[in-house]
Amino acid sequence: MTSHQDKAIVLFSGGQDSTLCLFWALQRYAHVETIGFNYGQRHHVELTARKIILSKLREIFPNESRKLREDHLCDLSTLGLISQTALTSKTQIEISASGLPTTFVPGRNLIFLNFAAAIAWRRGIDVLVGGMCETDYSGYPDCRRATLDAQAEALRLGMERDFHIETPLMHLDKAETWALAETLGGPRLTHLIIEHSHTCYLGDRSTRHDWGYGCGACPACDLRAKGWQKWQSASPT
Ligand code: ZN
Repeated sequence: MTSHQDKAIVLFSGGQDSTLCLFWALQRYAHVETIGFNYGQRHHVELTARKIILSKLREIFPNESRKLREDHLCDLSTLGLISQTALTSKTQIEISASGLPTTFVPGRNLIFLNFAAAIAWRRGIDVLVGGMCETDYSGYPDCRRATLDAQAEALRLGMERDFHIETPLMHLDKAETWALAETLGGPRLTHLIIEHSHTCYLGDRSTRHDWGYGCGACPACDLRAKGWQKWQSASPT
């Protein structure tokens, strides 16, 4: 019988970071479930990407994927309605007067982790895995480790379960994230991430760059591209 610490649920959006976190979890836990959220994103591209990535992982990494279990999709469209940001409405992507980008959905990760924990509680899972990162983070305060430590404590107290929030990318920059993909899964994983993970805020899948598909100009594409270039120049393959 597996212990609760052998089971994890991964916040999986279909993006570069969460795809890598999913693979990381598959190498560490005996039982891995995934959870995604539909919150009225401007584009459903990433929800499509999730399904493709799950299917490709099973095809390319049959050994790791034997641990892949249920995929949960939560409808949080209310979140999109109450938080008018550039990710969920037609607001321009830019830095607002508060210093945060307009892509900031207030409290989004806090809400996601609460839902993930509620599902984990029912399914006997104690480990929550997320791709939050404070090195390159776009100014999102709910991606910081201090925030997540406080939330893990609130979840432990509020649900009386020994929850842990694992954030394997927390202290990596985007170049190091690419390097970690290569270390964990070799070129097959890097290739899968390039071809199938989705990052672009504008939902562009028409232009293929070395680092994957995207408009090439939005802040998410910019971060992904710069990380790729830095990684490539550090270790040409
Ligand atoms: Zn873009």
